[in-house]
Amino acid sequence: MNSTVLQTPIVYLKGVGPNRAETLQSELGIHTYQDLINLFPNRYIDKTQYYKISQLQRTSSDVQIVGKIVNIKTVEQKKGKRLVAKFIDDTGEMELVWFRGQKWIRENLKLNIPYVIFGKANWFNGTFSMPHPEMELWEDHEKGLKIYMQPVYPSTEKLANKGITNRVTNKLIQQLFLETKGRFTETLSSGLINELSLISKAEALFNIHFPKNQELLAKAQFRLKFEELFYIQLQLISKNLMHKQKIKGYNFDKVGTLFKTFYEQHLPFELTNAQKRVIKEIRADLGSNAQMNRLLQGDVGSGKTIVALMTMLLAIDNGFQACLMAPTEILANQHFMGIKELLGDIGVNIALLTGSVKKSARRVIHEQLENGELQILIGTHALLEDKVAYKNLGLAIVDEQHRFGVAQRAKLWHKNDIPPHILVMTATPIPRTLAMSLYGDLDISTIDELPPGRKPIKTVHRYDSNRLKVFQFIRDEIKKGRQVYVVYPLIQESEALDYKDLMDGYESIARDFPLPDFQISIVHGKMKPADKDYEMERFVKGETQIMVATTVIEVGVNVPNASVMIIESAERFGLSQLHQLRGRVGRGANQSFCILMTGHKLSSDSKTRLETMVGTNDGFQIAEVDLKLRGPGDLMGTQQSGVLNLKIADIIKDNDILKTARYHALKILREDISLKRHPVILHTYTQLVKYKNIWNYIS
Ligand code: ADP
Ligand code: MG
Repeated sequence: MNSTVLQTPIVYLKGVGPNRAETLQSELGIHTYQDLINLFPNRYIDKTQYYKISQLQRTSSDVQIVGKIVNIKTVEQKKGKRLVAKFIDDTGEMELVWFRGQKWIRENLKLNIPYVIFGKANWFNGTFSMPHPEMELWEDHEKGLKIYMQPVYPSTEKLANKGITNRVTNKLIQQLFLETKGRFTETLSSGLINELSLISKAEALFNIHFPKNQELLAKAQFRLKFEELFYIQLQLISKNLMHKQKIKGYNFDKVGTLFKTFYEQHLPFELTNAQKRVIKEIRADLGSNAQMNRLLQGDVGSGKTIVALMTMLLAIDNGFQACLMAPTEILANQHFMGIKELLGDIGVNIALLTGSVKKSARRVIHEQLENGELQILIGTHALLEDKVAYKNLGLAIVDEQHRFGVAQRAKLWHKNDIPPHILVMTATPIPRTLAMSLYGDLDISTIDELPPGRKPIKTVHRYDSNRLKVFQFIRDEIKKGRQVYVVYPLIQESEALDYKDLMDGYESIARDFPLPDFQISIVHGKMKPADKDYEMERFVKGETQIMVATTVIEVGVNVPNASVMIIESAERFGLSQLHQLRGRVGRGANQSFCILMTGHKLSSDSKTRLETMVGTNDGFQIAEVDLKLRGPGDLMGTQQSGVLNLKIADIIKDNDILKTARYHALKILREDISLKRHPVILHTYTQLVKYKNIWNYIS
């Protein structure tokens, strides 16, 4: 079937017409034949069996029976009336019952003619009865396309109201198969079909809509899921490979004095094996003549900063400048201080640029950037401003990637003639297969190991009614010299309320932990940056023992002496956020604790989140649960979710198929990037890109 026929507007399909076409468009996004053929059922009702009335069980679910109606009567009941038909086959009798649409049914049902009925048979008043059965004349049933496993299509209230019931949808798809004679062109190469023992496209489409049996249905599902994931991977991987061919990158082939000196004399600890591995991966990229686009993922505290720093030193050794962008001032500040300290007297010129840097200082930075004196620039979004121009930027690092959009990442590209190498770092661990789908255009390095000697954080869940005990615990820890975070949720829609919670909390803590024995800091988003920094600084220096804060401290802040994290209204946080917050403690030598405070009323999702936090410290495991609770689209925020708007595959459940699809896409592209030797795949791929509506994932 050539693709132009499939691009026919749906209004021309027999049985559709202008009204239905409009509803199909607005409710299901169906504009063309192609769209309708790709409307896949959510589930199936098994109609492969016919039951005899004598075989019915009191527990039976949906059953299909062939028989006749011998009489119909209306029965008065307390409220309204019901229509009751006596239905028989050669083994017994039962009742069919209607509460609605009685007039129409009474006028249209035929007596003593064989029907196939389908529905739930209930045991009621000593007999079986089936309310509102689906009915079809045996004669029609025999003539129609045999539907054994009945598909259930996605539906909406409006569709149902406009008369586009599941049955109608089904009929329209039947009609489509009749008009096109079901001759759908093959869209995968024979090589793949043979290797994976796939059924043909035409067979798959037929069996996804009208499966003859479970086995064929399974084959159809596999084939279509594979195809969907295969073409996504093909798109992502070819973008990545072509990018590497086209986008020249600066070659950092030298491992110079700075890198060596730092490694031999300044490194305060032995690198973990995972850190060594990712540095190797990065170095391979930097010396490959192509622009690096790499995602560095590693759980909180896994030591990404040192990897970033050593990568920057490579850039400087090769005569380039480097920048590091962080999502908040606090974080940028902390990176600046930390990196300065690590570098010591090694002789690298480094500066900090944030919104609160004064104009005069800013001018100096701009000047030194342009004349090349400044080698490393650390800062916030301020780095993206057009005024910030470099003499020779060779590397841009973005920390906590998920807070920046793709567009911002792209802005960094234009800061030099040839785009600088880009390294994005994220502490939100993404299950590997999901990362493959989301960031197929980035290469991925993973630090999957924490530095040695970390004591796992002890996490507990406590109810608000236990607050006194929790306060006593805080007191004891402070007596031992530790510091404590108390974090309040801050969610935009209810901002005013949240601030009240925060201030009430602060006051109650101030009452229980009075001056002069206890000093308390407070940090929230409404404070001026300078005030925030001042308060933060006091806590970092150990001048205050308690830090009351909102989630502004979620990312990056590093205070090794802080060993207790109290999270108030913990049920209101998402899992990955809870994990990020917990990551603020457990950074020093002492045993750390995370206490999740909630009320008694908890939803089942909240309970799952809390149990997961109590049960594990492993960010990857937490990400998996998060993914299951929230679905993949939500995990990364909206900008990437389009990629995951899948028609039939499920990125979590069909993980294995995704891996297979990726493997084959990679293999084919490695051998034949232009796809010249894979004409069927090339043709399909071109069609996919041209008609974006075929699968919705082409973004
Ligand atoms: P993150 O990956 O969350 O950004 P950081 O880079 O802030 O983690 O590192 C967390 C802490 O671990 C820092 O105090 C850092 O100095 C320390 N650290 C990093 N790598 C190692 C290592 N190999 N051995 C010991 N400590 C390390
Ligand atoms: Mg970090």
